[in-house]
Amino acid sequence: QGSTILHVRVAIVGEEYILILADDRTEIARTEEVRNDFVANVSHELKTPVGAISLLSEALDDAAGDEEAVRRFAARMSKESTRLTALVQDIIELSRLQSTDMVDRAREVDINSLVNDAVEATRLPAETRNTTVVVGGSVQGLVYGDAKMLTTAFRNLIDNAIRYSPAGSRVGVGLRSRDGMAQVSVTDQGPGIDAEEQERIFERFYRIDSARSRHTGGTGLGLSIVKHVVANHGGEVNVWSQPGQGSTFTVRLPEMETSDTTAGDGNREQ
Ligand code: ADP
Repeated sequence: QGSTILHVRVAIVGEEYILILADDRTEIARTEEVRNDFVANVSHELKTPVGAISLLSEALDDAAGDEEAVRRFAARMSKESTRLTALVQDIIELSRLQSTDMVDRAREVDINSLVNDAVEATRLPAETRNTTVVVGGSVQGLVYGDAKMLTTAFRNLIDNAIRYSPAGSRVGVGLRSRDGMAQVSVTDQGPGIDAEEQERIFERFYRIDSARSRHTGGTGLGLSIVKHVVANHGGEVNVWSQPGQGSTFTVRLPEMETSDTTAGDGNREQ
């Protein structure tokens, strides 16, 4: 219906607006295209584990009596259902990010403690891969935000750093405040990311190596979630990487103004 209203306005306002409105319509078409792509990707991604579970349940049935085969099929079924659960969780998370009013759930949060929570949440994969996660530095100010979502974003970055690095390596998490921004960097000793791929990895379901991503439990949505969470907080996420030299993902979030910087505020009692 949006485009019908735009047409009426063109007739009234005149030619000058045609270009702007044409742009709006392109934007609407693009949003629609992105949404359709997402639905197509979701269907495709869901079909893989669902199809596998269905085949495995038939195989289990046929294998009745062969204890070793039953155990093997059951283990694979459990792996596929874990993958399915992770995928559904990430899809829900991403949809919620696009519909929630962030301000509703936002409060003052201490990034240092959120990062520690995120490191704690990745302890199991880190131990499994014998990877050490080292946290250094600290953020000075508070950030106004959604603690749960921010923790998820940091967890996704640390989890990727662990999954894409060779076993036994080191992941560094650096915290600092700079130019009124809280800065969190996650550095790994993994394979690095080609310059052409650096933008694309933030797209939904984009993976450089899908077999590897799936094998390590990736859903292809982790970085899109990071990007949305950070954008919803008025921040940004960047990647620095060179193939063979690891990667550093940096999140910057605006810190709340402290009483020092708001000294000129007329409403404040000195
Ligand atoms: P996935 O679930 O596949 O890890 P993400 O959205 O988190 O999905 O990441 C998208 C892709 O970006 C990954 O499949 C991987 O190819 C690449 N990637 C992400 N983090 C790293 C990293 N730390 N080092 C190398 N490649 C990475």
